[in-house]
Amino acid sequence: MPNAEPLKNIRNIGISAHIDSGKTTLSERILYYTGRIHRLGEVHGDGPGATMDYMELERERGITITSAATTVRWGEAVINLIDTPGHVDFTIEVERSLRVLDGAILVLCAVGGVQAQSLTIDRQMRRYHVPRLAFINKMDRVGADPFRVVQQMKDRLDCDAVLMQLPIGREADFRGVIDLVTMEAVYFDGPHGEHVRREPIPAELLESARQARQQMLESLAMYSDELLEILLAEEEPPQDLIWRVAKAATCSLQMTPVFLGSAFKNKGVQPLLDAVVRLLPSPLEVEVRAIPPGEESPSMLLSADPAAPAVAMAFKLVEDPFGALTFLRVYQGTLTKGGYYYNQRTGKRERFGRIVRMHADKREDIDGATAGDIVAVVGLDAASGDTYAESYPACTLERMYIPEPVIKMS
Ligand code: GDP
Repeated sequence: MPNAEPLKNIRNIGISAHIDSGKTTLSERILYYTGRIHRLGEVHGDGPGATMDYMELERERGITITSAATTVRWGEAVINLIDTPGHVDFTIEVERSLRVLDGAILVLCAVGGVQAQSLTIDRQMRRYHVPRLAFINKMDRVGADPFRVVQQMKDRLDCDAVLMQLPIGREADFRGVIDLVTMEAVYFDGPHGEHVRREPIPAELLESARQARQQMLESLAMYSDELLEILLAEEEPPQDLIWRVAKAATCSLQMTPVFLGSAFKNKGVQPLLDAVVRLLPSPLEVEVRAIPPGEESPSMLLSADPAAPAVAMAFKLVEDPFGALTFLRVYQGTLTKGGYYYNQRTGKRERFGRIVRMHADKREDIDGATAGDIVAVVGLDAASGDTYAESYPACTLERMYIPEPVIKMS
């Protein structure tokens, strides 16, 4: 099967934020640490011009860091970063981009906390059953207070926000984070924080780290009897159990794990990427149903099996210098280059002559894509929301079933 990535390694995620919280900066750092871009905006200085410089760089190379979807690699994982519109209103376009996500990062400002758009985004994510991690950014700013933000998340978003890290230093002195699962101090060295250094927790922070870890474990134990029993016996829970429980609670939208950092100061991004892989579901762990022809309700369970008949949904159309690109999420089977697929709205059979995977600064021609993947096809006659399938009529995804997590609690 062409270009197949093991499905369990794929994460289809979006990054959402109240304007100015640092979504662009975080996206840029992700592209940098995953090797997708090789220069950061602020190499020309630290000031407000940084973003401008980056925009110039973007124009220079024709990069669209905020393109509809960008694929990056993080260790074994393939992360498809899907653009979720910044100004959030209930347009069908926004809803479609949310539907193709299996998870998201909600960026909050350590000073501003939960703001108007955070509320809207959070509501939409719940509506589409998109599990999310929170990233409290701008920990370096004067007035940064992650504990207040966590409390706001509980009060205003009504979510079980659980701190998975503690800050080392605050404001101008923000130096790194304490990983409460491994109980290590994590620092970010090098000109752009590219070298992650893990060390024993400094003695003066050890007691507060122990307490915070206990709090984290007690929160998690609400979701797992196994973990609760270990805590009651005053034993040390294995790390993989902690992650398993955190993942199940996150994917069932009951809990929002919270991570800390400063994208601008190059701190905290790599552990956030690790958490995306650990805590957000792969396409295999999400159930998707389509509507069979002539029916109203989504009763047809799609299969991730690459040998099943292909079904894909167009969620975004983009004109770029290379032509018209239709971004599709494959929901079942395999799309093959040169293959013919039927647009279920028009009944028209179209040839998928060129399938590409979009990276920040380049596109990669691929021979095909399997269920769970996000790719673009050049030159289709599609509208956003169209379903493509191998036969006609096959099924439609337009009024798609909201995916339910299929991860079992421990
Ligand atoms: P977006 O609107 O959410 O995409 O936010 P941007 O990434 O454009 O960031 C908005 C402003 O906040 C820019 O001036 C950034 O340089 C700045 N910024 C982003 N992240 C941080 C951070 O971690 N610390 C500080 N102090 N400023 C940041």
